[in-house]
Amino acid sequence: MADAARSQITQGALNAIFNDPDRLQRDFPVPVCQCVQVKTLASTTEGQPERYRLVLSDVSNFVQSMLATQANHVVHDGKLKKGCFVRLKSYQANAVKGKKILIILDIEVIESLGEMEKIGEPVALTDKEIEEDVKPANTTIAGDGFYGNKVHQQPAAQDRPLPSRGAPTSSSSHATIYPIEGLSPYAHKWTIKARVSHKSDIRTWHKPNSEGKLFSVNLLDESGEIKATGFNEQCDQFYELFQEGSVYYISNPCRVQLAKKQFSNLPNDYELTFERDTVVEKCEDATEVPQVRYNFTNIGALQEIEKDSTIDIIGVLKDVAEVTQIVSKTTQKPFDKRELTLVDDSGYSVRLTIWGKTATAFDASPEAIVAFKGTKVGDFGGRSLSLLSSGSMAIDPDIPEAHKLKGWYDSQGRMDSFASHSNMAGAGAAGGQKDPLKTVAQVKEEQLGMSLENPDYFSTKSTIVHIKQETFSYPACLSEGCNKKVTDMGDGTWRCEKCDINHPRPEHRYIMQLNVNDHTGQLWLSCFDDVGRLVMGMTADQLMELKENDTAAMETAFEEANCKTFTFKIRAKTDSFQDQQRVRYQVIGANPINFTVEAHKLADLIKLYNID
Ligand SMILES: [Zn+2]
Repeated sequence: MADAARSQITQGALNAIFNDPDRLQRDFPVPVCQCVQVKTLASTTEGQPERYRLVLSDVSNFVQSMLATQANHVVHDGKLKKGCFVRLKSYQANAVKGKKILIILDIEVIESLGEMEKIGEPVALTDKEIEEDVKPANTTIAGDGFYGNKVHQQPAAQDRPLPSRGAPTSSSSHATIYPIEGLSPYAHKWTIKARVSHKSDIRTWHKPNSEGKLFSVNLLDESGEIKATGFNEQCDQFYELFQEGSVYYISNPCRVQLAKKQFSNLPNDYELTFERDTVVEKCEDATEVPQVRYNFTNIGALQEIEKDSTIDIIGVLKDVAEVTQIVSKTTQKPFDKRELTLVDDSGYSVRLTIWGKTATAFDASPEAIVAFKGTKVGDFGGRSLSLLSSGSMAIDPDIPEAHKLKGWYDSQGRMDSFASHSNMAGAGAAGGQKDPLKTVAQVKEEQLGMSLENPDYFSTKSTIVHIKQETFSYPACLSEGCNKKVTDMGDGTWRCEKCDINHPRPEHRYIMQLNVNDHTGQLWLSCFDDVGRLVMGMTADQLMELKENDTAAMETAFEEANCKTFTFKIRAKTDSFQDQQRVRYQVIGANPINFTVEAHKLADLIKLYNID
């Protein structure tokens, strides 16, 4: 059995892929390797598919490989496992910073060979040529392979010339069509054929030392998506040419660089910047390039989706509000926004906010079907949605889901009534977070709580450094649900005026002042009994008893509460007190830090800095 498997492996193929393209085409039209390792890479962007890293061996050599997400199904189907044998049907060779990486676009597991221990002692591939000369082996479009067509088991096909892919007559310039996923800073001479799935408005910036403008497009093909940006002259050069939904050939010179993920919601590690000589050509025959890819969540299921996830949604437009303007607290800039209400056959409705030009130019009437790609889930009023700037909207799209909804609405939905995710409707911030996480410095810079009309809500992760010990509790009424302060009558009873009762003893309830710090500053927080218990780890009655009988133990209790870190939910509101106004930060909830969740969050933030 091992011999049978070994004889199937195309020994030498990996070296040929990277170092000897001529031999590759002649001897190894469809390389067969053993997969000696499969590793899951967690998705860096919520809602995006996970990635798989493989190590492939041809007995002589091994090479690191990435599975293109379009090929994830071999893992999901349980076929690709450690030790199994595979045919590489479409792939792209890349050398990144001297490391060789094979991107697998289409792969087939030879199930009859099963799984085995690693055969032989393969060694890492070495450079035969200097790095600059490493040409990606031109196998991208080999076979019928790419844009979603079925690959035939037909080795000879690899020798066919490449263009016949709806390329325009000037096909010579499009000889090598790269999959978007194959692009890297080390790719030479490439052309992609991609649909514009989103085009931004033109944005301008004015800074002391520079000003300018830019726009960006998201480009989509069967292998993936990438963001491309045009600055200044390229903004003028290309802005009008690109239309959402149309397909283009884009060829280098065009810069490929590491993605600034904080400005993008695409999973690609790279992004493009147009250059003066970048060639962009509209493609008329574009049927095989996918339309915007949706992965819809139905409205009823939103309840189970975590806040801040990015999802796609389709629904019947039930209500369209007027455009309103708000001023962003963070940037002080005004924004146009419009709220839509969508319903679907789950029986639920949801509010969705659209922004900027999309909001002002919106002209669909109620009962239209609207599909959104890239909306952010907020928990304001239960669940609500906000269209991301990188998201897109389609009105009455020609897709099966839209036809199905239309049929349902016409036959029945129009008469239905819908449950809302909202339990505090009306307050106008769909998709917004009710209590966004802020640093202490942000709380002060953004003047949270300083408006006289409405309180602001936020969360902050901070550490207790001091608790006021002079007053930490008050004697409260024992009657259920009362909590009023009671008065010591001096005869061994405590009187509640409201309940008109004298109790034999009070119940002490916390009313605490905490000084908390984070790396940006300090705040005084007020908290009530429930948070006090969490902070002190005992009831106020118990702490009172220590105060009266064992001061040393009381001090120890306060010391132990110091340096505890919590995520505090806070309501900030301006109080007037004897003609003086001050902001009061009232804790309305506190959670101890979940270190696992927190570590993942920090890891994601660190990734945004693109540090290698
Ligand atoms: Zn009472």
